[in-house]
Amino acid sequence: MPKTGGEASQGDRPAAARRQAAIGKNGRRGKRMGELANCPRCGRVFVRLPGQKVCPACAAEIEAEFERVYAFIRKKENRQATIYEVSDKTGVSVRQITEFIREGRIRIADHPNLAYPCERCGKALITEGRFCPSCKKELEEMTEQLKRALEARPEAGERYLQKKGRPPEKRP
Ligand SMILES: [Zn+2]
Ligand SMILES: [Zn+2]
Repeated sequence: MPKTGGEASQGDRPAAARRQAAIGKNGRRGKRMGELANCPRCGRVFVRLPGQKVCPACAAEIEAEFERVYAFIRKKENRQATIYEVSDKTGVSVRQITEFIREGRIRIADHPNLAYPCERCGKALITEGRFCPSCKKELEEMTEQLKRALEARPEAGERYLQKKGRPPEKRP
């Protein structure tokens, strides 16, 4: 006849096992996630999880800013607003609004005047990418020139490295 004794100890075991499992899980997770990083927005140090760009406080602020911008441009009378007007009225920086557009959270197609300034000259307004056509052209030319200069004088780079590596010369 099987006895049903030892129930008390059986009752304890699952709890202990659960505790153990929890510790194991947390330990593993703790190892994988989180590296210390400086928040690029506020500069504070935070534990960055995969996929996180800014600290939780900044992420919450950015969400609040998005809500403000979105609430503003959603209104019919504001559909044609420029990025500067939106920034003025919502207190959200042109830079952050640009970020929303680039992330695809605000669609230029819905707001044709929401072009954002070129990252290089800051004057020309664009609807995609980072630079205006003329800056893009200049940057391409600069890259091309640099490439040509390096190709023409590959020894210049080598000489620089040699000089740096050489011990100081003794003078007679
Ligand atoms: Zn931050
Ligand atoms: Zn430009």
